[in-house]
Amino acid sequence: MEDQQRWRWRWRSCRAALLLLLFTATADASSLGSQEHGDGDGDGDDGDKAAVERLRQYLRFPTVHPDPDYGPAVQFLLAQAASLALDTMVKEFVAKKPVVLLTWRGQDPSLPSILLNSHMDVVPVEVEDWKYDPFGAFMDSNGDIYARGAQDMKSIGIMYLEAIRNLKKTGFRPLRNVHISFVPDEEIGGVDGFGQFSKSEEFRNLNLAVGLDEGSGTETESYRTFAGEKSPWWLSIKAVGTPGHGSKLYDNSAVENLLKSIEAISIFRTSEFDKIKSGKATLADVVSVNPVFLKAGTPTPTGFVMNVQPSEAEAGFDIRLPPFADRKAIERRIADEWAPPLRNMTYKFILKSGGEGNASAIAAESSKLWWKLFETALAKAGVKFSKPEIIYGTTDARYVRDQGVPALGFSPIANTISLLHNHNEYLNMKEFLKGIKVYEEILRIFANYKNFDYHSDAAIYVIDSLYIRNF
Ligand SMILES: [Zn+2]
Repeated sequence: MEDQQRWRWRWRSCRAALLLLLFTATADASSLGSQEHGDGDGDGDDGDKAAVERLRQYLRFPTVHPDPDYGPAVQFLLAQAASLALDTMVKEFVAKKPVVLLTWRGQDPSLPSILLNSHMDVVPVEVEDWKYDPFGAFMDSNGDIYARGAQDMKSIGIMYLEAIRNLKKTGFRPLRNVHISFVPDEEIGGVDGFGQFSKSEEFRNLNLAVGLDEGSGTETESYRTFAGEKSPWWLSIKAVGTPGHGSKLYDNSAVENLLKSIEAISIFRTSEFDKIKSGKATLADVVSVNPVFLKAGTPTPTGFVMNVQPSEAEAGFDIRLPPFADRKAIERRIADEWAPPLRNMTYKFILKSGGEGNASAIAAESSKLWWKLFETALAKAGVKFSKPEIIYGTTDARYVRDQGVPALGFSPIANTISLLHNHNEYLNMKEFLKGIKVYEEILRIFANYKNFDYHSDAAIYVIDSLYIRNF
């Protein structure tokens, strides 16, 4: 099995090398003009131009939902890996949804490793609202590169690779293994992508110390950093009751039972919202609950039967829990107040993320060391950054944290209007190149940090006011 795999990897490297030749030829042809007329500032400049071209190439692959074509993007990444002499693995945990794992082998591969993750997929576009082709990666005279994925987050994936390319040029060799993953399907929940990968033997074998994944860009000059994220719980509650004539008054009809629950949920929602309105909390700190569907009644071709009280009624809620919310207390509230058997109610989770035991919180706690190293790296890179926040959307980092591994959320995109999932998403080439430099510093420090014993370090972390209360 192992031999077979090794053979497959070798074949992949050969194929990747062939593809690399093709890609290099294309890149040379397309950038020839700019090289000829370039300012001739020397090696650094040409390296930067080539990096920008590689970003533009990757942005052109239509890995767009609802039907992302991952194949050509994967081949491109394998070609990049071959050019960097990285080990490669491609695995489809679910058919047509490849997970690409590249590895920069460390001097001591037995040490806990580092994971740099990015997702290959992007959200759909409304092409008529774009100034330029969203898969053309057009660069205007300001150096703004327009493409779906320019911010979220194909650019980050290429920053990782270009940082490795630059470090290799300087002769730097990592002490521990550095893994770079490119995953599918994040934009549709990641269940078939990082979700499957995180539960696999391949993931366990990585022996991860820490993971880096996307965060969010900022319009200011100060990078945002994220230490955790809210966990989505998608809840469906259902009431049953005796059906009856619409003219009668009786207790415990399904709709009446459901309405009582909706009232209780609404009171809870108001109390959480009040914390934000009073300025005592932000959206990241509170449990948010929003109704997302209501289902009851007996349909007719033109509407609903109006004189029957139905025997079933159902409602759905999108709940988002901060890492330190008491999950058991929320679940008790659901069982006792929102869907009590006393009112003939049941509930089920369509999605319940974040594990049973505050997995995100534990991972955030054990990430303290990595935060210190992270801050050191950013300071060394000479960039500004703000204190860690909790992201209130979801990213694949939650799957890493669910496995007990700390994960940091970071997108080194500053001075940029956030256009995630919006029309005319773009990234300036200067921000892209600055991001590469930042990852070089992060890798230098993360990859070569010594005296690190994952298990004993994780055990001594305590809840610290700086890292927990100020999130
Ligand atoms: Zn993203």
